Amino acid sequence: MKTMDEKLKQPAGILHGIGEEKEKELQQLGLFTIYDLLHHFPYRYENMEVEPVEKLRHGDRVTIAGMIQSEPAVRYYGRKKSRLSVRILVENILVTAVFFNRAFLKSRMNSGDMLTLTGKWDKYKLTITVQDVQWGSPDPSRQLQPVYSVGGGITVKKMSRWIQQALQAFGNNVEEVLPESLLSSYRLSSRSEAFHMIHMPADKEKLKQARRRFVYEELLTFQLKMQTFKRQERLASAGNTHEFNKAEVETFLQTLPFPLTGAQRRVIDEITKDMQDPLKMNRLLQGDVGSGKTVVAAAAMYACHLAGGQSALMVPTEILAEQHADGLRQLYAETGLNVVLLTGSVKGRKRRERNTAIYEGEADIVVGTHALIQEDVNFKNLGLVITDEQHRFGVEQRRILRDKGYEPDVLFMTATPIPRTLAISVFGDMDVSSIDELPAGRKPIQTYWVKHGMLERILRFIDKQVKEGRQAYVICPLIEESDMLDVQNAIDVHAQLQQFLDSCHVGLMHGRLSSEEKEQVMQAFAANEIQVLVSTTVVEVGVNVPNASVMLIYDADRFGLSQLHQLRGRIGRGEYQSYCVLMADPKGENGQERMRIMQETEDGFTLSEKDLELRGPGDFFGRKQSGMPDFKIADVVHDYRALETARRDAASLIQSRSFWNDQQYAGLRSILEESGILDGTKLD
Ligand code: ADP
Ligand code: MG
Repeated sequence: MKTMDEKLKQPAGILHGIGEEKEKELQQLGLFTIYDLLHHFPYRYENMEVEPVEKLRHGDRVTIAGMIQSEPAVRYYGRKKSRLSVRILVENILVTAVFFNRAFLKSRMNSGDMLTLTGKWDKYKLTITVQDVQWGSPDPSRQLQPVYSVGGGITVKKMSRWIQQALQAFGNNVEEVLPESLLSSYRLSSRSEAFHMIHMPADKEKLKQARRRFVYEELLTFQLKMQTFKRQERLASAGNTHEFNKAEVETFLQTLPFPLTGAQRRVIDEITKDMQDPLKMNRLLQGDVGSGKTVVAAAAMYACHLAGGQSALMVPTEILAEQHADGLRQLYAETGLNVVLLTGSVKGRKRRERNTAIYEGEADIVVGTHALIQEDVNFKNLGLVITDEQHRFGVEQRRILRDKGYEPDVLFMTATPIPRTLAISVFGDMDVSSIDELPAGRKPIQTYWVKHGMLERILRFIDKQVKEGRQAYVICPLIEESDMLDVQNAIDVHAQLQQFLDSCHVGLMHGRLSSEEKEQVMQAFAANEIQVLVSTTVVEVGVNVPNASVMLIYDADRFGLSQLHQLRGRIGRGEYQSYCVLMADPKGENGQERMRIMQETEDGFTLSEKDLELRGPGDFFGRKQSGMPDFKIADVVHDYRALETARRDAASLIQSRSFWNDQQYAGLRSILEESGILDGTKLD
């Protein structure tokens, strides 16, 4: 006898009405088996709820029910075309029902028959042009008609019929994959029930229930696969256990001039745990601008040093590398750690000396640009690589490191807060730590939204600030379609401001400058040789000029909230009150809402969630974004709480012994087995 699972794996062609040709067409839709058909969920539902006639809107697709009052009349025109009309009494109103090319229905219609009709409503002629007819009163279980995606010669009607058939034959005892404990604690419907409810929902409530169950199932299995995979990968690669005493890290933290925030403590704990673990660390550290990621990095690198390893901190630009090297030397002042800077402009003898220090292990910490883990640089014992500011380095760079004989722990730091759960689904193979708290005592940035007409007043304000010794950023309009127009805009704005602000130096920065030119401009701004910096969004990347206290953003409504927040993070870094001016005349309600949110909120995580809500994940990550998992039913935006729940559940499942042994988890285990993830590597 076949098990239920084997039955579901039978080809769709065993169903009545699916011949060879249709089977091929189904296969083109990716539907091979009975199982596939059951999982071909409707992408929407037609509402067939019966409504009172007075409420029906002209031109809508509606469903009405009534009794036949007249002989049906048929008119033929042409050879095959016909028009059948019949009068129906619906709640004491006489309505005409019209059927095209279905003259054969005439013989079935008898005066007094009850009909339920769905079709297009003409309010003025009290006529319905019928698409679907059922004899009898409306069937409450058919009020929500599933609509399936179809293709080739397959119609929605056929697809529905086959799926109904599959449900009747196999849907009643589909094997459950979720364990009883999860079903009951989340009050999820059984799989059989849910299959019925999603294909033939009795009402909206049932549909919601079915969806909830499948969403959870999909997200849980996704998380199980991902987390098991991650674990396998880590086990397969030679681990890197750092042995150090956490108390000594604590001693270092005590030397800092300020107490750590709770969030900083938490993430330091997460990171050092990873480092002590034989599994290789692959972690994303996200924290708002100014949340104090550098200290966290410093603590991790200190721990690595205690364990006898060297650390590398990679940043995107030379100026950032210099800033970080200086900052770290201060933080390590009492520890005697040797921080070495390595950038493109370190040349000749100096470079040879530093390379030797790195090679011989005298350099404990090496700060530099991308080049530092490549080319001529060789470490004695590289144990930890940290990259700052969206400087993700991918599989290729990790391979380079591995080829050099390092299996370092890896920490990515980013100041773009992504809602945590989304980060997890996007950066699937990474763990995520979030610093969701700013150090106390920060002066909040004052943000104002103004219309473009206010430009002169704003410029006078900038002039005044500069005269008080401050500096300002002016961010130019963003033109999505054209890089060149961006640049042109920046050039225009620069010229305009030079005229207006004649008492100060106005610098210009845009994407067409070479990286040396950019560095020069940035250096000049950091040294206060330039007081006002006109720039396109290239300035986003983690530059620290604490004396800058004003930012003016042209056409602010063209930016996403997260991006505005990133930009705004360039100011408010010093002791001075800082001001961000958003210049925008947004047309829609949505744009105005976003400007209001920017005025009211300074929390990056809140903003990124709002961004997500208002713009969706595609926009959120910009045009380049990809790598979002492709779910059948779950939606990372709307279901991201479920995603978080599933992630936690998956983590505790794969860590438990019972998951790998108990019968109740057999269903989930077999999903892992089928995906091939368990192949080859031994667990535990
Ligand atoms: P980011 O996360 O943007 O990289 P930084 O690490 O540059 O932030 O920290 C921003 C500033 O806050 C630095 O001047 C740093 O010394 C300071 N800082 C970091 N942590 C704390 C803290 N717990 N209390 C007070 N100041 C802190
Ligand atoms: Mg930083």
